[in-house]
Amino acid sequence: MNDLALDHQAIIVGAGFGGIGAGIELKRQGISDLAILEREDDLGGTWHVNHYPGLAVDIASVTYSYSFEPNPNWTRLFAPGAELKKYAEHVADTYDLRRHMEFGVTVERAEWDDAGFWTVHTTDGASRTAQFLVTATGFLSQPYTPDFPGIESFAGDVIHTTAWQDGYDFAGRRAAVIGTGATAVQLIPEIAKSARHLTVFQRTPIWVVPKVDFPIPAPIRRLFGAVPATQRAARAINTSMLELLMVVGVLHYRQAKPGNRLAALLAKAHMRAQVRDANTRRQLTPAYDFGCKRPTFSNTYFPVFNQPDVDLETSSIVRVEADGIVVEGEKKIPVDTLVLATGFNLWDVNFPAFQVIGRDGRDLGKWWRDGRFQAYEGVAVPKFPNFLTLNSPYSYSGLSYFTTIEGQMRHIARLFGELRKRGADRFEVTEQANSAYLDKSTERLGDSVFYAGDCASSRSYYFNQHGEATLLRPQATLSTLREMENFPLDDYTYA
Ligand code: NAP
Repeated sequence: MNDLALDHQAIIVGAGFGGIGAGIELKRQGISDLAILEREDDLGGTWHVNHYPGLAVDIASVTYSYSFEPNPNWTRLFAPGAELKKYAEHVADTYDLRRHMEFGVTVERAEWDDAGFWTVHTTDGASRTAQFLVTATGFLSQPYTPDFPGIESFAGDVIHTTAWQDGYDFAGRRAAVIGTGATAVQLIPEIAKSARHLTVFQRTPIWVVPKVDFPIPAPIRRLFGAVPATQRAARAINTSMLELLMVVGVLHYRQAKPGNRLAALLAKAHMRAQVRDANTRRQLTPAYDFGCKRPTFSNTYFPVFNQPDVDLETSSIVRVEADGIVVEGEKKIPVDTLVLATGFNLWDVNFPAFQVIGRDGRDLGKWWRDGRFQAYEGVAVPKFPNFLTLNSPYSYSGLSYFTTIEGQMRHIARLFGELRKRGADRFEVTEQANSAYLDKSTERLGDSVFYAGDCASSRSYYFNQHGEATLLRPQATLSTLREMENFPLDDYTYA
């Protein structure tokens, strides 16, 4: 391929499951000079960064893993976070990726040079070049900390869930958790076990359905190890159920409203069975349709609100003072430890996670924000040659992130196979193919709960700042995978 004297054939930014998948596929495609740059001090992405108490997957582990690298050793149906981190290490070692990884390296800018390469600048002032650039920087990787007036004057500890202090002892403390997203739903029951008092600040309630979780007995684990087909079957069954939830409940809301209503009824019945006080139940019930915001799974969240030492606070936060939080009506809630389960900023700072400048000076983030968020098949953008962006608009497919990654790996395989066949050095998606994918996605989303349902009060991160739901790929998993390995080759130009 390229005969320029470059530092690497390819640079991948991010050593989470996306970057690991891309690394495996690029190596399969013969790219051996590969650098995987990671800002954290170890691999695993979200499963390295997050280690708050209660952390676990909420997609069953037989599905939340690479299909080509099954792990027979999951101890529970929904594995705890630490097992995911170990699994990431296992995969990186099995596919010999660790030697390509560099930790503590933060990319701040990348720019295309028409001579045929990318220059990647890092915050230490260094830069390096590569023929190909792949960003795998995650969807939920830029923590969001709201700018509450007075928060700097708070005298106690402030902990964002992505910066957990392991072993933090809540005993004897009055804790406050701000946020009721998937993270808070896992964390709140753990804090409620030991805190003297807990106040949960909820702005928007979340739909919570039962979590059918149990330890995987040792004989089953042995069976999964000895006869991998049994684990593949378990994966197929679980993936099909999730697919039904996604396709019927979310993407084809217009055609299948009863399915969506049924999910909401299940969540309401779950709450009725677990929360004694009718007023609390009313406060915990979302006013938007199921699926507008990512629903969550828990059996331990709702019962917390029966505890005498736990309060649900739904009034707006006005300011933070040294020793507490003041809400509307000048009511002050004393707080010793403030936990921010306030999630992530996707659309302002994470798309993309750093400045990327393509051909003719096109600035990816500015182009997306000034116009519309878009990426062909959720991976490629016109005027960005030899660039694949794995965490893109319309890229998230299915409910398990591994569906997205494996689809993208197939896309990489087909694209790089074609480059090799043509003896080409460069690819770039055409404006026409990109526009067609955007139009198709926009049209398909018309049937989804995001547009056909009532999401007005959901404050969902599926919607960007323009009010468009541009995160999910509106297609069934099987059709996504088929498309990723069969896309028309002339959707790209090659040189
Ligand atoms: P999130 O879903 O974005 O939730 C953030 C919470 O903070 C929301 O309840 C939000 O309220 C609240 N919040 C933000 N700013 C606020 C403000 N100024 N005042 C009051 N409340 C405020 O973030 P997350 O819980 O970290 O979860 C993010 C995603 O990570 C999940 O949807 C899921 O995909 C993933 N996740 C997965 C797992 C798992 O698989 N095990 C676990 C955790 C997270 P509003 O809704 O009103 O904005």
